[in-house]
Amino acid sequence: MQFTSVPHPAPTHENVRKAAIADPGFGTVFTDHMVTVDYDEAKGGWHSAQIGPREAIALDPAASVLHYAQEIFEGMKAYQHPDGGLALFRPEENARRFNASARRMAMPEIPEKLFLDAVKLAVETDADWMPPVEGGTLYIRPFMFASEAFLGVRPAKQYKFVVILVSSGNYFKNGVNPVHIWVAQDYVRAAPGGTGAAKTGGNYAASLVPQAEAIAQGCDQVVFLDAIEHKWVEELGGMNLFFVRQDGSVITPPLTGTILPGITRDSLIAMLREEGLEVREEPYSIQQWREEAENGMLLETLACGTAAVVTPVGKVSSPDGSFEIGTGGIGQMAQKMRERLVGIQTGEVADTHGWVVKV
Ligand SMILES: *Cc1c(COP(=O)(O)O)cnc(C)c1O
Repeated sequence: MQFTSVPHPAPTHENVRKAAIADPGFGTVFTDHMVTVDYDEAKGGWHSAQIGPREAIALDPAASVLHYAQEIFEGMKAYQHPDGGLALFRPEENARRFNASARRMAMPEIPEKLFLDAVKLAVETDADWMPPVEGGTLYIRPFMFASEAFLGVRPAKQYKFVVILVSSGNYFKNGVNPVHIWVAQDYVRAAPGGTGAAKTGGNYAASLVPQAEAIAQGCDQVVFLDAIEHKWVEELGGMNLFFVRQDGSVITPPLTGTILPGITRDSLIAMLREEGLEVREEPYSIQQWREEAENGMLLETLACGTAAVVTPVGKVSSPDGSFEIGTGGIGQMAQKMRERLVGIQTGEVADTHGWVVKV
């Protein structure tokens, strides 16, 4: 599919852009352009691919996304390489997962090539928004929503796919800080048969109250337990977990449909195995977490995802009390895995897996 290019009537002045990307923080410095592709069942599917100015999207008040929440998204990054080029990390995996999310939400799949072309075009077009700071990236947000004006309850027949970019600074501006986790008490993120494995906005909406509870308890993030037994550790609101143990084993909760299949998670499984560790995808209970943290069997707990890469969990709290993991600081494996993964992504460490895709 060819992308129509609509010129920007008033691109951000160079001085303004340079000032904005000198210290962009995370999530507010948007670039000038966006990619849009429309879907209409009556027109035979995907059509009108376009790169143009980033602007507000007009929606009919009856657009189904506003009522029944058919919406999915992805989170990816473009990295600056030492040779001056830009690169993506395993973008085909994002395309595949996007379509898995689409199937679960009764939305149309997008051809993987169209997804990847859209992402690359957005990055190429706004490459000069890459922050010239250590650890800076262009955070890429592809998403799709139901745009059809219709109040009956059924899958919509019209959708919009959009790619926007956010200029992002180093997530670890003040170094990596171990996170303090609150164990969700009265809330779950996902139930068997639900939408936990889909990257859909509703999962995030449902996590906001327990996340606020975590903050109110003086914690940084909430960890969710399984919906049935309220016993098995699943994941954080947006990060997967690994338990690094003294006997050379590493446990990560299995993908049974209630956990988001993270691409960082998948990459870490491969990297930890290369370290000679025995990675097992098996259930890990909250009781085991506490006992192994207290008796020294548990060396580290790692949280991982595209935004924060690999972050150590330092402390876990619940109404039953708190426990620290290891020294409560940054463990050796967290440090090593984070440096290696960032190194591969930024082209400073050899990419032996073919994970890096040049834009
Ligand atoms: C996106 C996401 C992750 C992390 O996935 P990555 O592909 O590693 O970025 C983990 N959990 C949830 C709930 C997510 O939405």
